[in-house]
Amino acid sequence: MKRIALLGATGSIGRQALEIIGAHPELELVAAASGSQPIDGVAPLTQVGGDLTDLLERARPDVVLNAVVGFAGLPATLWALERGIDLALANKESLVAAGELATSAWQRGGGRLLPVDSEHSAAYQCLESREPGTVHSLVLTASGGPFRGRSREELADVTPAEALAHPTWNMGPKITIDSATLANKGLELIEAHFLFGLEYERLEVVVHPTSTVHALVRFHDGAALAHLGYPDMRVPISFALTYPERTATPVPPLDLSVGLTLEFEAPDLETFPLLTLARQAGKQAGTYPCAFNAANEVAVAAFLEGRLPFLGIAETVEETLASVDGAPARELSELFEADAEARRLAERTAATA
Ligand code: MG
Repeated sequence: MKRIALLGATGSIGRQALEIIGAHPELELVAAASGSQPIDGVAPLTQVGGDLTDLLERARPDVVLNAVVGFAGLPATLWALERGIDLALANKESLVAAGELATSAWQRGGGRLLPVDSEHSAAYQCLESREPGTVHSLVLTASGGPFRGRSREELADVTPAEALAHPTWNMGPKITIDSATLANKGLELIEAHFLFGLEYERLEVVVHPTSTVHALVRFHDGAALAHLGYPDMRVPISFALTYPERTATPVPPLDLSVGLTLEFEAPDLETFPLLTLARQAGKQAGTYPCAFNAANEVAVAAFLEGRLPFLGIAETVEETLASVDGAPARELSELFEADAEARRLAERTAATA
């Protein structure tokens, strides 16, 4: 039996995880948490909001599935990594914002960090048991979101409803907006850097509209390994929860008999500047990635509430990054300060946009 603690049980990942746990008697849900929705009876131990590490202390899980949205997922990520408890990580923001603190905790704890992000789960599988020196580069694919092919001018007046209509993946609102701006792929670049220890020069993003190839690893000998499948988050969730068993899911294997065309193109960095801003923030290191994430969370919330135009999301993040000092956080309290400062700056910028 594997004892699972599910954080973010009422979101898109959480609901799909409940389906997978329900289908596998060897997976025991010992605790579940949500941000605000009632979840009484979902698990023996439940919690709504508050400090989730209290719940984890009581639950003593073997695996923590962290599917909280945003920076709020950070304490649970650090709790699991520090203790060497397997972490199935759907909360990419915690690894982006606290990359250096999280990787140190991971090294001290010595547990597994299994990504529940489709691209990173795919990359993990392509990279598993390879010698790091054999890897040339990692390619993360992006669907391009609902606004692929549009110009900047055509994005000036888009509404939250238009931005929430994702062409291939069915996900929660925060990540769907991040997909429309390509901020999600920016967060994923930084996530990949910390997960796989690859320099940013070795991380590439390509647009691949059907989301069939989830990641591709190039090796120095000229070979490349790709991970293919239908875009369905139950696959990476199941991979992480049942690792290393790779148990069956309701998702059918890829059918090639109907014909399969794979198209790739370079991302439009001029129309979607958040990808470049994320790469720069990642390279600048320190608390720049934390500030990128904080400003993006603030700007996305403002856009969803109708307080900020779509193009204002990138402008808010760019101005915030230009205003912070980005100094490394030596401890968690300094990271919280950097996050709070970036949020203050971003709120001010968004209010005047
Ligand atoms: Mg992803």
